[in-house]
Amino acid sequence: MKTIDIGSLFRNNIKNLKPYTSARDEFKEITGDFIFLDANENPFDTGFNRYPDPQQRKLKKVFSELKRVNEDQILFGNGSDEVLDLIIRAFCEPGIDNVLGISPSYGMYEVLANINNVEYKKSLLNSLDYSLNLNDIFAQINDNTKLVFLCSPNNPTGQILNFDDVKRVVEGFDGIVIIDEAYIDFSTEKSWLKMLSQYNNIIVTQTLSKAFGLAGIRLGIAYASAQIIAGLNKIKPPYNINQLTQEKALSVMIDKSYSNNLNTCNSIEKNLLYKALVKLNFVLKVYPSDSNFILIKVTNANEIYDKILKKGIVVRNRTKDDLCENCLRISIGTPDQNRILIDVLKSISESE
Ligand SMILES: *Cc1c(COP(=O)(O)O)cnc(C)c1O
Repeated sequence: MKTIDIGSLFRNNIKNLKPYTSARDEFKEITGDFIFLDANENPFDTGFNRYPDPQQRKLKKVFSELKRVNEDQILFGNGSDEVLDLIIRAFCEPGIDNVLGISPSYGMYEVLANINNVEYKKSLLNSLDYSLNLNDIFAQINDNTKLVFLCSPNNPTGQILNFDDVKRVVEGFDGIVIIDEAYIDFSTEKSWLKMLSQYNNIIVTQTLSKAFGLAGIRLGIAYASAQIIAGLNKIKPPYNINQLTQEKALSVMIDKSYSNNLNTCNSIEKNLLYKALVKLNFVLKVYPSDSNFILIKVTNANEIYDKILKKGIVVRNRTKDDLCENCLRISIGTPDQNRILIDVLKSISESE
């Protein structure tokens, strides 16, 4: 249990900001027999001539029921990337405040901090098992550290972060901890969502880009205390979630079988791929994965990457990431794609 004074964490200009109010903010009623002449829209029905709901209320209602959080604890972004950017802009004074992330991890945290002229501190994971180095995290946090970015399951390592380790950060840090759960649907471990009622200093981010197979529609979600969400809501672009995205997301979220159908084979395929990978003679290590990809350490990542590419398969070379020397990251494909991948890897292994 932890409650911090969120209000005082926001940047002063954000605290005092008078947000833009759109036509649909000022007149919220969208049902009923009104003639809408308030938003300079085209009056002729194209299916999309009206601005989308700036508060995505239908979508929030569905997410609220599915995830068992209040509607005022939800913020949607144009991908999680927009959500992460809003978080930095709401809390971090450029040139003064700093944020801390783990390394290796998702590269966007650092880029977004840099764009906003906010110092990004990196805490290396423990090299043996990619777990959090708590001593180092707390040694690096100072009075100007506003945010800590944790990614669980982590990208590119693939593993969930230990619950008690994350809890130590959440409880020991008087700022906001972002827990990026882009891959949580692939994990057998529980989401941090259920902890929202106990900690008002966490933001859990999720996305429809991975398990829901909808990277193309760009819908990311932040779940947090109502106070945090209200602050982010104040600074988001008014119509950040377009009509097509809202409609597609709504239809998918009310179809219970939708994501099951897409992900039933992920863990089976992951196991098959895992077993094939450990047998290859250029593979030195296969890391356990709670996600939809596997990280492997090979004898020479650049060489193996090129050989795989020559056979028409694109994997991700992570050899330049901290603690990932000679590592490749491979997404789990369809059963057919994985068979082809395994054949290619075997042929490379035999020729080594
Ligand atoms: C893929 C991914 C995301 C998703 O970002 P979107 O902008 O929602 O597509 C977020 N975080 C991590 C760690 C990812 O790997």
